[in-house]
Amino acid sequence: MNKMASLSSKKTGFLSSLSYQVRHLTMSRANCNIINSNNNSNKYYDLVVIGGGSGGLACSKEASQLGKKVAVLDYVSPSPQGTSWGLGGTCVNVGCIPKKLMHQASLIHSAVQDSYSYGWMDSNNASLNVTHDWNLLVDNVRNHILSLNWGHRVQLKEKKVDYYNCFGRFVDNHTIEATDKNGKKMSLSADNIVIAVGGRPAFPDQVPGAREFGISSDDIFFLKEPPGKTLVVGASYVALECAGFLNGLGYETSVMIRSQPLKAFDEHLSKLVLDHMEAEGVEFLRDSTPLRVDRIINESGKTELQVSYSTRTDNSNNNGSQEMHKVAVDTVLFATGRRAATTDLKLDILGIQTDVSTCQIPVDDNDATSLPNVFVIGDAALGRPELTPVAIMSGKLLAKRLYSNSSELMDYKMVPTTVFTPLEYGAIGFTERQAIDQFGEENVEVFHAFYKPLEYYLPFRNSNQCYIKVVCAATEGRERVVGLHMTGPNAGEVVQGFAVAIKRGITMRDIQSTVGIHPTVAEEVVKLHITKSSGEDPTVTAC
Ligand code: FAD
Ligand code: NDP
Repeated sequence: MNKMASLSSKKTGFLSSLSYQVRHLTMSRANCNIINSNNNSNKYYDLVVIGGGSGGLACSKEASQLGKKVAVLDYVSPSPQGTSWGLGGTCVNVGCIPKKLMHQASLIHSAVQDSYSYGWMDSNNASLNVTHDWNLLVDNVRNHILSLNWGHRVQLKEKKVDYYNCFGRFVDNHTIEATDKNGKKMSLSADNIVIAVGGRPAFPDQVPGAREFGISSDDIFFLKEPPGKTLVVGASYVALECAGFLNGLGYETSVMIRSQPLKAFDEHLSKLVLDHMEAEGVEFLRDSTPLRVDRIINESGKTELQVSYSTRTDNSNNNGSQEMHKVAVDTVLFATGRRAATTDLKLDILGIQTDVSTCQIPVDDNDATSLPNVFVIGDAALGRPELTPVAIMSGKLLAKRLYSNSSELMDYKMVPTTVFTPLEYGAIGFTERQAIDQFGEENVEVFHAFYKPLEYYLPFRNSNQCYIKVVCAATEGRERVVGLHMTGPNAGEVVQGFAVAIKRGITMRDIQSTVGIHPTVAEEVVKLHITKSSGEDPTVTAC
């Protein structure tokens, strides 16, 4: 597979155009049937990209800039609750963008709560007493998203990428059947095809009523009514971020955690994130699994959703037993993972298999499938970080490898990320546990400290969960920083800056010899000096 893929990506112009012409001769005849039977047209491209999200848009625009004839198909199937949206994929419509704006709305609430200590008051000299309008926020967020949808369409036009608001599925490995919302079909043929279909929320289908009465992250940002009292099921990025902003906006929020929260992250910092959320009023239902969701009318005649769930309790013999519970809420948000949107692509025609639980497609380092001209980027690819900048960069690099003699592969390691919970958790690289597993305990040293952001002092904010951990390992004959984990305000901004240096292989000495910017939270990283092995108290008290 590797060999064939790299051959495909490094094809010379001559070979490429020869094979293209030969294929087009064969394909044009095959596609005549489709054209005639549907009375539709047939179009030829160098590259067809299925999916106009972060990865697909980046790849198609880059390929077009490199002089290729490119088409991108994007089609949004409505959520079970009927929510739909425009061009741009998950990030723009139901992911990063609306999420970050709602995170910001919730942070503003915290700032208002702090404002009295900074001298802000109402005309009666009392602290500001504000209310929040959910519908105004949703409208403004939606308007911003609409402007982004429009911007993406304009960019495709400017960059001469043909955009089809159509659902794509394979006819063969050079032909895509594109179907528009009215069922009108068209055939697109291409030398190369990139699958960039992303993923969609997965409802736990073993839970009766989940899909019928629950919502997902595909719906929350467009809710016409305020969510009210909300139960979030799940304990990873999506669940905790949504629970964080809902609680911050003033909605009573609980989170149902089945096992370990933020499993892929450092255990200690994950705990701090949850401790902070708990201190802010989020209730955690731990070791709990939803069993069913029913719509009920309560004693006051109000319609509610009743969630039946079991909680694992460990007795002294360590034999788990189950307790049954019920909770009544206005909204149940299932954030129970995502599945790649590959099931209706007709991949079986190509003999391409997908992962049983995630529906993602296995790929090689070149992002190629078992077929050398069919590639996968973004969330639909198996084993890759499911993040927008990853999808974008891999899309651009793939286009360059295909069309500009580049051999640069996407580096899927050392990818920074941030969980936008009320107290952000920014991270890059190995967790302490991963580093020990990888390099051996004797080769790992951790520098760490609790710190207090200056802006917390006047309102007497609790800073117990603001913490930084730098993981160092002796590897390849020298000591290197292999991980940075930080909880605190704007942790995402801080970690993004350090990520460049850490990816370049810096040492702790490099960090410590850099002058800080005072007073910032980022300077707390360059001030780190306490090692875990010293056993010293990492609580920093002075400025
Ligand atoms: P997508 O952006 O999902 O785009 C795929 C597109 O293809 C969609 O428009 C889809 O409708 C379309 N499509 C699917 N099948 C077909 C078909 N057969 N034919 C035509 N079109 C099709 N990442 C971050 O980096 N930072 C964040 O803060 C962040 N926050 C997130 C918050 C939430 C709530 C969620 C759910 C995700 C978040 N992510 C975040 C992840 C990020 O959104 C994804 O990693 C990214 O969007 C993946 O890009 P993609 O191109 O693979 O797929
Ligand atoms: P994840 O797959 O990371 O987490 C799914 C969560 O749902 C886990 O806590 C899991 O628990 C729980 N779960 C699954 N099934 C059930 C069930 N039947 N009952 C109870 N709990 C259940 O999915 P997410 O959707 O949160 O995130 C997907 C990806 O999207 C992330 O990996 C990330 O890459 C991206 N993303 C990035 C963001 C960012 O950059 N800030 C924000 C949001 C998403 P268990 O561990 O027990 O299986």
